[in-house]
Amino acid sequence: MLNKRVEDALNAQINAEFWSAYLYLSMSSYLAHAGYPGFANWYSIQFQEEQAHAQIMVNYVLSRGGRVLLKPIAEVKTEWESPLNCFEETLLHENNVTAMINDLYTVTLEEKDFATQSMLKWFIDEQVEEEKNAQDIIDNLRMIKDNGYGIYMIDKELGARTFVTPAPLAGK
Ligand code: MG
Repeated sequence: MLNKRVEDALNAQINAEFWSAYLYLSMSSYLAHAGYPGFANWYSIQFQEEQAHAQIMVNYVLSRGGRVLLKPIAEVKTEWESPLNCFEETLLHENNVTAMINDLYTVTLEEKDFATQSMLKWFIDEQVEEEKNAQDIIDNLRMIKDNGYGIYMIDKELGARTFVTPAPLAGK
């Protein structure tokens, strides 16, 4: 049986994961329209990953006999200045998500919910990856500045990214 405070916190995080998905689909659409198919592809994969994050938590809440209560997803931005601007905002957003996951973990410590702590460990590790991925792309874009050929090459590289089902959904 899921502790009520933990259940509420998980439901809030499910909404936050869907908001992330919404944000990245918006960035993907902006970048596709601006003529960067590779960057758009990277964000389209990110969109799928965030939906998978929500699904992992939905499955977990249900497996513990809890209720999944979906709330409206808040509006997201639709315009950015450049691909670099998107990735800078992505890093700031992922920093916020890391703080949210940490707060959620703190709730499970206070409530002595060991099973939810175990489930959240995957998310803690995932956030390290999310922040590193955004930072690496920011570093590359800052290095090449407005060099057209460099941007073309990074766009091409990110166009090769494919979706990999996260381990908790892949049945490990
Ligand atoms: Mg996420």
